[in-house]
Amino acid sequence: MNAPNKSGWKPQMEVADATGEHVTTTGNRALMLEEPLLFEIGHAETTGVDLPEVDPNAATRLGSLKREEPIGLVGLTEPETVRHYTRLSRQNYGIDLGFFPLGSCTMKHNPRLNEKMARLPGFADVHPLQPVSTIQGALEVMNELAHWLIDLTGMHSVAMSPKAGAHGELCGILSIRAALEARGDAREVVLVPESAHGTNPATAAFANYRVENIPATPQGRVDLEALKARLGPDVAAVMITNPNTCGLFEPDLREISDAVHAAGGFVYCDGANFNAIVGKVRPGDLGVDAMHINLHKTFSTPHGGGGPGSGPVVLSEALAPFAPLPYTARTADGVVHLIEEEQADEFAREHFGGELSSFGRMTAFHGQMGMFTRALTYMLSHGADGLKQVAEDAVLNANYILRSLEDVLHAPFADSGPCMHEALFGDKDFGGGLTTLDLAKGMIDEGFHPMTVYFPLVVHGAMLVEPTETESKASIDQFITAFRSLAERAIAGDESLKQAPYFAPRRRLDETAAARKPKLKWEPQEV
Ligand SMILES: *Cc1c(COP(=O)(O)O)cnc(C)c1O
Repeated sequence: MNAPNKSGWKPQMEVADATGEHVTTTGNRALMLEEPLLFEIGHAETTGVDLPEVDPNAATRLGSLKREEPIGLVGLTEPETVRHYTRLSRQNYGIDLGFFPLGSCTMKHNPRLNEKMARLPGFADVHPLQPVSTIQGALEVMNELAHWLIDLTGMHSVAMSPKAGAHGELCGILSIRAALEARGDAREVVLVPESAHGTNPATAAFANYRVENIPATPQGRVDLEALKARLGPDVAAVMITNPNTCGLFEPDLREISDAVHAAGGFVYCDGANFNAIVGKVRPGDLGVDAMHINLHKTFSTPHGGGGPGSGPVVLSEALAPFAPLPYTARTADGVVHLIEEEQADEFAREHFGGELSSFGRMTAFHGQMGMFTRALTYMLSHGADGLKQVAEDAVLNANYILRSLEDVLHAPFADSGPCMHEALFGDKDFGGGLTTLDLAKGMIDEGFHPMTVYFPLVVHGAMLVEPTETESKASIDQFITAFRSLAERAIAGDESLKQAPYFAPRRRLDETAAARKPKLKWEPQEV
């Protein structure tokens, strides 16, 4: 058997500081402890639990399946296990630790009250197959949240089950496809402006549409004339991100919607960043037919690293009959029902004056209960006026960053008026071959998670900064100071930035090698 490294401590990393002077024998840096892999610190014979000795001759029911060879996994004691994961967690960065200016992602504080509510047993322990009579509280939350979403957006209905923003896009596009098919209209093209989020063309392509690009104006907005010129009987829908990925509001959306409708198409709006306009603008008033809302961005909920997400889709009257099943509805007796396929037609006759033409389902069950509870808690604790202030403060904070840095950094759309919830910069003026990546790595040394980089594609070396409304002026000021000094170094061509980060648990990775030649298996080192 390959013996794990039992010789005790062996530093796995470069332990010198930036100047190469102070080296520790352990690899630790003061109270920040270095941590090798489980396989390097564990022992085959160690275990955290006290198991009875197994009699090798005892009869088992496994027959020939009984394992003869050691399994090859290492064990740790309980304290070693706890320390391993705690040490790793301290090398991580999260919204509870510091500022997370990741543009488009809306990484904001999640009030602890949300967690308390989501953990109430009636919500946390609910099972999707429980009889409806035993989950009235949970259905009430879903129904109440659905009404808030309809009110806030000025739309007709909402599909609650999609489990992420991109999943919501698919739900919207499939509703549009179902509506077009219902009228025997096989359109093949979806138009996507350059300023749309990357998930939009991906969604349209996934739903078998041919994607065509609509250019952006030099001001970073949809080119209205180019869009109008392309409309025709083959265009199923236009997918518009508003606010767009340049951080700008699309003021022509009403005119775009009218033109798209006149040409027989539908308007899909990517509302992932609804946090910038909630309480200020209702997409329903702008002629939108379908829009997903990322509950995990606009209405808090911690997210990132793959989950959880929730992307309800609000729908216009024209698309409502095609929404996926199931959905909740309250009847005159006050009971909230979960409308499944069996009840759907009858319900549709009553409410839509026709048969239901649902395109099917998005997921096995009804959506993300924990996130529904968090989102409704967030809404109720803010109130309608508080939600409006969320948007105002998010926009104010982003403009404060834009105006504080536009004199030093290239800000391509600074003259296009105020930005929305995020400020966009480019690396045009950097010297000495330095790039956006170097500045981003420098931010890690300064204690910040880097901003979104190289997105949107319309700006060279894009840096998209989103402060959200939950950052204090003090933390934004500290960010601006750090960002400004790094920008000045990058513009001056300061070579040392190319080696950043200096102080992170791991130095700069060779990302190309990591992607092209990934090492996915741990091999024991020669002792
Ligand atoms: C985050 C985001 C999405 C995708 O949302 P997911 O929940 O990650 O699938 C789509 N569009 C925009 C504009 C976004 O910011």
